[in-house]
Amino acid sequence: RLPVCECNSCFSGPDCSLFLHGCLADADGGDPLFLEPFWMNNAESSAIVVAGWHRMSYSYEDHSFISMQLQNHIRKLHLITGNAVTENRFIVFGAGSTQLLNAAVHALSPSRNSSSSSPSPARVVAATPFYPLYEAQTDYFESVEFEFEGDAYLWRNSSSMNMVEFVTAPNNPDGQLNKPILKGPFVKTIYDHAYFWPHFTPIPAPTDEDLMIFSISKLTGHAGSRFGWALIKDEVVYQRMNDYMQINTMGVSRDTQLRALKLMKVVMEDGGRKIFEFGYNIMKNRWENLTNIISLSNRFSLQEISPDYCTFFKKSRAPSPAYAWVKCEREEDEDCYEVLKAGKIIGREGRLFGVEARFVRLSLLKSQDDFDLLLHRLNQLIISEQLSD
Ligand code: PMP
Repeated sequence: RLPVCECNSCFSGPDCSLFLHGCLADADGGDPLFLEPFWMNNAESSAIVVAGWHRMSYSYEDHSFISMQLQNHIRKLHLITGNAVTENRFIVFGAGSTQLLNAAVHALSPSRNSSSSSPSPARVVAATPFYPLYEAQTDYFESVEFEFEGDAYLWRNSSSMNMVEFVTAPNNPDGQLNKPILKGPFVKTIYDHAYFWPHFTPIPAPTDEDLMIFSISKLTGHAGSRFGWALIKDEVVYQRMNDYMQINTMGVSRDTQLRALKLMKVVMEDGGRKIFEFGYNIMKNRWENLTNIISLSNRFSLQEISPDYCTFFKKSRAPSPAYAWVKCEREEDEDCYEVLKAGKIIGREGRLFGVEARFVRLSLLKSQDDFDLLLHRLNQLIISEQLSD
């Protein structure tokens, strides 16, 4: 019997069986707890023990901040997953991909000390709907080097300006495999591949770009360990990102690197099949359940994702996105966030992604309890819609 304090926030009572009727379905946030059961099944093989005297130094034996062993595992993981080319690439580690996003913007912006005249700042853009952190971070770090300028589509004809475009594939919030909008000699592109793993998307071919960013957050689900990496072709860009890491944090925690290494070893034990199949089946089922419910409604619609051939699974696979990108279709439902909130569902407002308030993002990555409650609330909302029609 669970003590009361361990009940999930929607249940109470001595055995946590009393459903709290006012309880909200929290579909905000991107905590990838759908993978928690996988790690419960692999608790022993994924555990690490670190003695007090171990790994005390700032750096490794070769004086770098980056574990060579982990770097080699990352290259191997990309090879077996077939999602990225790592040959002739440098690797930089970050505290999550979050830290690397700004390191990349810095490294791709015109350098202040390389020319006597002051170059104009790089204009940082992303196609809408875009991950809100790009804007938040670029604005927050307010620099003479770069400025956030919003939607990439609006800059298609600015071929003589220094531009940095974030290309998110699959995209957060709508799961599409985005392609760059801008091209030309002054355009630099950062490929954010946080979700480019077989749980969330078919892998059509290995990505082979100049600057690609990955993370364990959505790969293994260990968002709290804060570990990401960038694969970089150009040595100067690599050096600038490395300098950023050196000045910002003197590298990524060695404890985190040790944990990431252990997790990757488990992931690769059987060539990745176990975790990717596990993750894919959960995400695919959630999407099926969600689309079945939404198909009963005229009030809400979802993004369309077509099935595609996956080179990892060697077959065509059904959609399994990390988020639902919901649109409120009725004219009067201009603020979709409020519409869902009235139905006891908390999503993330479309406005934050650079689009109208008619859109809301719902997270499908969280625990099974969270997802079940989301379905329950959506069901109620749609039944009440049908009763009032
Ligand atoms: N990029 C995208 C598109 C994301 O959705 C996220 C997390 N929600 C990140 C980067 C950052 O992830 P982390 O710092 O945990 O690696």
